[in-house]
Amino acid sequence: MLSTLRSIVQEVNSARDLSEALNIIVCRVRAAMATEVCSVYLLDPETNRYILMATEGLYKEAVGRVTLAHSEGLIGLVGSREEPINLEDAPSHPRYRYFPETGEERFRSFLGVPIIHHRNVLGVLVVQQRESSRCFDEGEEAFMVTVSAQLAGVIAHSEATGAISGLSLTGQETGDVSFNGVAGAPGVAIGQSVVVYPPADLDAVPEKPTDNIEQELKIFSGAVTAVREDIEQVAERLAPQLRPEELALFDVYLRMLDDNALPGEVVNSIRGGIWAQGALRQVVQQYVRHFELMGDLYLRERAVDIRDLGRRLLSHLQEGEHESVVYPERTVLLSDELTPAMLGEVPHGQLVGLVSVRGSGNSHVAILARAMGVPTVMGMVDTPINQLDGKEVIVDGFEGKIFASPSDELRAYYQEICEEEAELFRGLEELRDKPCETTDGHRVSLLVNTGLMTDVVRSLNHGAEGIGLYRTEVPFMIKERFPSEQEQRGYYREQLEAFAPSPVTMRTLDIGGDKSLSYFPISEENPFLGWRGIRVTLDHPEIFLVQVRAMLKASEGLNNLQIMLPMVSNISEVEESLHLIYRVYHEVREEGFSIRMPKVGVMVEVPAAVYQVRELAERVDFLSVGSNDLTQYLLAVDRNNPRVAQLYHSYHPAVLQALVRIAHDAHAVGKPVSICGELAGDPGGALLLMAMGYDALSMNAASLPKVKSVLRSVSRAFADQLLEDTLLLDSPHVIKSCVDLALRSAGFGRYLRPGRASTSTYSKSS
Ligand code: PEP
Ligand code: MG
Repeated sequence: MLSTLRSIVQEVNSARDLSEALNIIVCRVRAAMATEVCSVYLLDPETNRYILMATEGLYKEAVGRVTLAHSEGLIGLVGSREEPINLEDAPSHPRYRYFPETGEERFRSFLGVPIIHHRNVLGVLVVQQRESSRCFDEGEEAFMVTVSAQLAGVIAHSEATGAISGLSLTGQETGDVSFNGVAGAPGVAIGQSVVVYPPADLDAVPEKPTDNIEQELKIFSGAVTAVREDIEQVAERLAPQLRPEELALFDVYLRMLDDNALPGEVVNSIRGGIWAQGALRQVVQQYVRHFELMGDLYLRERAVDIRDLGRRLLSHLQEGEHESVVYPERTVLLSDELTPAMLGEVPHGQLVGLVSVRGSGNSHVAILARAMGVPTVMGMVDTPINQLDGKEVIVDGFEGKIFASPSDELRAYYQEICEEEAELFRGLEELRDKPCETTDGHRVSLLVNTGLMTDVVRSLNHGAEGIGLYRTEVPFMIKERFPSEQEQRGYYREQLEAFAPSPVTMRTLDIGGDKSLSYFPISEENPFLGWRGIRVTLDHPEIFLVQVRAMLKASEGLNNLQIMLPMVSNISEVEESLHLIYRVYHEVREEGFSIRMPKVGVMVEVPAAVYQVRELAERVDFLSVGSNDLTQYLLAVDRNNPRVAQLYHSYHPAVLQALVRIAHDAHAVGKPVSICGELAGDPGGALLLMAMGYDALSMNAASLPKVKSVLRSVSRAFADQLLEDTLLLDSPHVIKSCVDLALRSAGFGRYLRPGRASTSTYSKSS
């Protein structure tokens, strides 16, 4: 059964479109189950009805014509119960519904299983049999459930592909279809999409038409010649070491490059109007699927050679391409996995929106986007974004969805939201120089999180009182090697100078997890539980020492530097770090620099640190809570995984209890405590944190004016009461509603936007 299943999935994967995929499913499942009928009904999100989309065994004319209301018939029953229904005599069931168009009355046994993707029922897969004596057994039921679970993702993907072309399930034209992901950075952007992709990755190549066929043919022919030459050279070099039969492998490669083999098919596709890279991708993928389906192991293995050839051809096609990307005036960058370097390549002022297939609302690239004020949607897992290149798109960073090729009405609707947002910010500018003080005189410092110099400029414009977290890894991530001490000193000086005499808290290099350096790759099974933050830098004192030295030298004459240690889970890590910092301090002074010993703090971002706050605080000058990681580790929810984004909730009672405890324990030993996770920049979160007694809230620059306006409009007593009420609640969702209600009653309903969206199937916008 396993091999049948595998080959069905592979065949379905290679289908060109949804209709072909569904036809393969019904054909193959019918044969595998040795039954008379197999059909697929899909739920049309537009009409909320099940449509018979493909069948083997019922009348073909019924396809597309037979539809059932959401809870009608046995199909509706399977969908609403979300479990298989196995009947020996279906017509006698009270929910049986008869459609003469299908010829169904002849069939008695019925087994229907729901097709569910990310909790959404996409449709129902059904098998039927004429004789009443056949009852599908448990093994058959289990097979159908497995097929359906495996195919749900492929069906969701094919549906989304049709939707990109503006087609409904039945192939009718449809408008304003949205694709759902996870909210990354708030705001709305309307712009033209540019799909960026890593080099030599065939699967990531976007689909694009070409209007210069001759040029594409020429480029492709150049690539084929170059790859042929490469292979001939390698064969020549290895000839003395290989036996003739081994050398023959190179001939196989060269034959695959003959004009009438793979290149011939690519040329045909280019002539059909597709750009060379896209044509190559299509042909290679077809070949690979074809080989992978072969029964013969030797031939199946040839898929690897084809992929290798494809990659070689692609890297020649992509030579020099990097420099030639033309970014439109209003660029929306789309990628399978966005990286800070990709953002840096868009010319200044032209980046308006971001979309990433991987990652979630608390991934670092989303945090960076929030700091830059660029509306972002993450976790677009089922959207074939490589088909969106060059299209007009709307990015709704509040709800976590995008629209491709929007109608005039939809564009006008979102344009209005953009204008409202701009107005809201203009209204907040007057708060810039006012203190963050409640109506009854309680003061809280509002600091910013920075990573780039642009953050600093924005922060100053928004009235920040210092930097609560400078993520030093950001300048490391946009370089191609470790920055030298001198280079680091330059970056750090900029940040320190911009805010002097206010404090600037620099975090030592925090790499690992989802923050990787291209020149220092870390590959691990569980990166978030692995070599991260202080663990890396203590293992590499040469990196740590250079960084601290650069920080101390940069602080000369300013004396506003504070150093903070990330990912601390053991007291010994603090002690070792302090030892190294003291050592550098003395050495730098000996070199003649006139500097003061900076304050040193620890980040509380893993559960172990929560229970050792006192011991940690006694050894350092301050604590700062990294609520992004603390939430992830307390709830065991990967902050980067869109599949569990709905479970990632900083309003979770366990997180709130931990935050209360941290503030209490730090103050009990007389040490200040701040917070620099994203919760601080959430107006409701800021209210709770103030009530918990946090001395400073550090957030992205874009959130600061909103938080300030909320805190200045309420009394501390109001926030205390809210905290008291929320601590009695046991559900994150109820807590969120309670906090939202308080914000509304304080007149800040306009700051509340719909929360994180999480489904990943496409849906028709209303
Ligand atoms: C945090 O974990 O809350 C934090 C501020 O650090 P980062 O988001 O950079 O991991
Ligand atoms: Mg962290």
